Amino acid sequence: MSFLEYAPAPESTAILNLKDSYGLFIDGEFVDGSGTPFHTISPATEKHIAEIASASDEDVDRAVAAARRAYEKTWSKMSGRDRGKYLFRIARLVQERARELAVAESLDNGKPIKESRDVDVPLVASWFFYYAGWADKLDHAGLGANPRALGVAGQIIPWNFPLLMLAWKIAPALAAGNTVVLKPAETTPLTALIFAEILQQADLPAGVVNIVTGAGATGSTLVRHPDVDKIAFTGSTGVGRDIARAVAGTNKKLTLELGGKAANIVFDDAPIDQAVEGIVNGIFFNQGHVCCAGSRLLVQESIHAEVVDRLKTRLSTLRLGDPLDKNTDIGAINSAAQLARIRELSDIGEAEGAERWTADCAIPEQGFWFAPTIFTGVEASHRIARDEVFGPVLSVLTFRTPAEAIAKANNTPYGLSAGIWSDKGSRILAVADRLRAGVIWANTFNRFDPSSPFGGYKESGFGREGGRQGLTAYLKGAAA
Ligand code: NAP
Ligand code: MG
Repeated sequence: MSFLEYAPAPESTAILNLKDSYGLFIDGEFVDGSGTPFHTISPATEKHIAEIASASDEDVDRAVAAARRAYEKTWSKMSGRDRGKYLFRIARLVQERARELAVAESLDNGKPIKESRDVDVPLVASWFFYYAGWADKLDHAGLGANPRALGVAGQIIPWNFPLLMLAWKIAPALAAGNTVVLKPAETTPLTALIFAEILQQADLPAGVVNIVTGAGATGSTLVRHPDVDKIAFTGSTGVGRDIARAVAGTNKKLTLELGGKAANIVFDDAPIDQAVEGIVNGIFFNQGHVCCAGSRLLVQESIHAEVVDRLKTRLSTLRLGDPLDKNTDIGAINSAAQLARIRELSDIGEAEGAERWTADCAIPEQGFWFAPTIFTGVEASHRIARDEVFGPVLSVLTFRTPAEAIAKANNTPYGLSAGIWSDKGSRILAVADRLRAGVIWANTFNRFDPSSPFGGYKESGFGREGGRQGLTAYLKGAAA
């Protein structure tokens, strides 16, 4: 054992009260699904957690019908003040059950408990608190003369922040007066199902939120259902395109939050120690399974060697392993399929001539793991500089002048986020103005707040989530 090694500090799973199998949550009750059930596993151990129902076309139809009934009979008749009370209640129950939700999330998704406990779950509660506050103020928020709900919202979310993406979708939809049918990702349905229990505890009227678990086909059916008024999707650009095609020519409103390949730009006057922490947080947070991850580091040539050196030293101290251990910095890769994609793109990076460096850390025998990896000598044309790896892999490129930094940062089909590190406020503002990215962080990275809108340009999608702007996606006649 080396001098600075930590003793194991695993969070107990005793707080979980999991069922052996979960049904679909339709009209306020857990019901059987008519598709073939599937299993959710822990990506850290590959062990079975629970059996999950799969929603067939008929089940999706039942869920949409329940949401429609709830919209017409209760939710659209309720005052904003009363809707807000339910949202406040949900927020408080999330806080009450925070530890349980964090453990379930880390178990099902593979992310470190440190992150689910300190980032995901507190943000989930804050999203519900924030939109609870808006529910009775829609007429006074500059959202148009008479902003009204759309009706039934179909929402499809990915596996990287399962409960947080649920909150980003459900909280504004309910605050604006819509009812919801939500499909979680296949590999991470657990916290959405515990959330359904929270909705029962909160006495939310039946049918206001329905949760249909299943594979991509379930999502596809929801997107194409004729009685859905709005589709909100977060996930890959490929599926986003398919959804856009399916919705084109219908009356459905659509928001798409897709992939990214963010530039994290470090100027030579940046506080280097802070920048190194920011780079690590930018790409190794949540194993790099982050759509706005700072996966392209653009570092000014004069400090390139120093930054890369310090980065390697810092990465060598990161602890990879059991997501439920409170000391863990890097958890498991979410699925075998995602691991294969990360491996493939990393191999391509090497084959194209970039130099690969991997932190020297022990990899557990079971489960899906990928050690923090840096590529230097990356050219803008390399696939690791262009494709979203969605894993703990950083590509390092250099620049000499601010104009070159801006040109390289914008040289991507994506435009979700970016970071700028500099001592000069004027430089930060000037560069930020010229970056084609929806969210730009200055001397920080991967910070989220419910009052701040989030969303992309170009192939990163359209529409904003969060803030007052996030309400417009769920209202008729509302302009941001
Ligand atoms: P994905 O396939 O786009 O999945 C996102 C969600 O859409 C999941 O709930 C998925 O269900 C569902 N889905 C799949 N096919 C669908 C279809 N034809 N119609 C409607 N819904 C459908 O993304 P992924 O496979 O999880 O990840 C692949 C890549 O997407 C990643 O490598 C990354 O580049 C990107 N990604 C981006 C984000 C983001 O936050 N922007 C998040 C996750 C992934 P199943 O889970 O059952 O497939
Ligand atoms: Mg799982």
